[in-house]
Amino acid sequence: MSFHRLIPATLSFADGVPYAPAFGDVYHSADGGLAQARHVFLGGNRLPERWRGARRFVILETGFGLGLNFLATWDAWRRDPQRAQTLHYVAIEKHPFHAADLERLHALWPELAPLSAALRSAWPPLMPGFHRLLLDGGQVVLTLVFGDIADCLPQIDAAVDAFYLDGFAPGKNPDMWAPQVLTRLNRVAAPHATLATYTVAAPVRQALAQAGFACEKRPGFGRKRDMLSAQFAPRWQPRAPRGVAERHAVVIGAGVAGSAACQRLATRGWQVTLIERHERPAREASGNLAGIMMPLMSRDDNQASRLARAAFLFGLRLWRELGGIGQAFAGEACGVLQLAADAEQAQLQRATVEELGFPGEFIRWLDAAEVGTLTGNPQLHGGWLFPQGAWVTPASLCEALLAACGERLRRRFAHDAAQLAFEDGAWQVRDAGGGLIAQAPVVIFANGTNTTAFPQTRELPVTPIRGQVTHLPASALPALPLVLCGECYVTRPVQGVCCVGATYNTAPDPQLRRDSQEKNLARLAQMLPQANPQERPLAGRDLTGRVGFRCVSADRMPLVGALPDHAAPIAGSRLRDVPRLPGVYGLLAYGSRGMLWSSLAAELLASMLEGEPLPVEAELALTLDPARFALKAHRRGGANAAKEECKEE
Ligand code: SAM
Repeated sequence: MSFHRLIPATLSFADGVPYAPAFGDVYHSADGGLAQARHVFLGGNRLPERWRGARRFVILETGFGLGLNFLATWDAWRRDPQRAQTLHYVAIEKHPFHAADLERLHALWPELAPLSAALRSAWPPLMPGFHRLLLDGGQVVLTLVFGDIADCLPQIDAAVDAFYLDGFAPGKNPDMWAPQVLTRLNRVAAPHATLATYTVAAPVRQALAQAGFACEKRPGFGRKRDMLSAQFAPRWQPRAPRGVAERHAVVIGAGVAGSAACQRLATRGWQVTLIERHERPAREASGNLAGIMMPLMSRDDNQASRLARAAFLFGLRLWRELGGIGQAFAGEACGVLQLAADAEQAQLQRATVEELGFPGEFIRWLDAAEVGTLTGNPQLHGGWLFPQGAWVTPASLCEALLAACGERLRRRFAHDAAQLAFEDGAWQVRDAGGGLIAQAPVVIFANGTNTTAFPQTRELPVTPIRGQVTHLPASALPALPLVLCGECYVTRPVQGVCCVGATYNTAPDPQLRRDSQEKNLARLAQMLPQANPQERPLAGRDLTGRVGFRCVSADRMPLVGALPDHAAPIAGSRLRDVPRLPGVYGLLAYGSRGMLWSSLAAELLASMLEGEPLPVEAELALTLDPARFALKAHRRGGANAAKEECKEE
């Protein structure tokens, strides 16, 4: 999906009805927006009846607008004692409103005020891509997809129960009703899907019929004589819904990857057994005092940046749900400044911010003078400020995530998983002596490179990368208002020390190394010469710190999803042709970005397991597929090629 700068909606009214000047049309019927939503979209899809007793109900809307249909649906869902357990609402919108404009619009429906206020407080910054919002304690999941329908619809991976087509009148906005758009709806339709819209235009009906929808005219709303209601009734066998039958998983590894997995599954009603070889969570790669939460940026908004943006925003929202950074767990939402290495990179950073046009709440370019004021170093060139960036103590985040699982979590700590065998319909995880630790139909590896200790997963191309962090007494550094990242990172004080790091190499040494400390200090001195420990009371002192081993993949991106069965032959050239170990999944290779990836990756895996709409673009989910290396190796004609080298610093 190529990058298109987002153009927000312009708030306007025509005779008191919200109006879009760019389209020359109103957002809803002049006879009443809420009543129209109830008659056309809910009524046309036979809601609430159709969601009654269901575990999950999925709605896809084309044209989110001011969210009136969504609010009407959420309101109906809340009022219905027999509602589906979870309501998933996926909505595509090319020109989202600013939150302040939504407030003015929502004021027109005071009866929906509590819901519209909750929507606005979760409203994402206006940037292209998928934004998953958890509302009503996570029982209402709104996935906003900001972009043009032609680009976005093919990226939605969902089994939709009801479609709301609401893209202005076809004559005024033909793009939204283009046959190539409508005929693709069947790709995401669940077997018994229905559809509703206010238009009965013949080309719309023809395209829907071609897509397998049986259309029927019904009495319209207000001054409109007819509306359309349709039933998905294709001549072919629709795709069977996905999802596992028994909702019980064993998760191996209680770092941020595993803890987030437990939380995302437990909130969905899963039983989770968490195996950890240490007595407490986060003792290995997640054991650092501080992990940095910041997104990735690229001038062309490449796949890694888009994924990182989704991960950053979803992670921050999930953490807010948990109780907030510095409240439910240790950390500070102090902002992160990513320094430009030199004048050339500074220009590139500035151009990137200008061209992408992302909102200032997400990223701001700071010039050399502004960076000098913040850091006390006038020699720096400028940088990207992420105002919502943060540092977090991973162990305390893990504790908060696990506490949120409540009764659904069973901890099997101080147990070292060493063997995996499928017996009697479940994966049994045993220790080296053969003792059974736990069993379930689903097992999730979230134990970094230790995953490769199991015969079934030995071939996974993940490498341990040593990282040493230096702990400096806070008094030895100038007071920084935020986290600085450049040649290395330096945090604000965490338990009395500032963390500087981290080195990046394949050395196996678990002890602190002097040369690594020196490397960190040298990098710090480049970034903040005024903090040069040689000139401060640090010289000659034995510095403390921590060594951890990150789990890194050959392309530096995480592995999220079903693990490949390396013993089985690949009979095709697509990811879906790679045989998998049934019921075996991975949340691996977060590298140095455990804070960034853990929440979204867990949400993505939980969505896959449940057969829910995915929280990211389908093409982005594929970039995380753990089978990508096996497929690449197969295409190149040799299994060993999968073990690519991870380059050192
Ligand atoms: N359903 C909305 C509600 O309940 O408030 C009203 C939707 S309004 C009639 C149509 C929406 O479609 C507008 O918000 C508009 O920005 C959006 N839209 C128009 N063309 C689009 C396109 N090509 N792709 C995605 N969204 C588009």
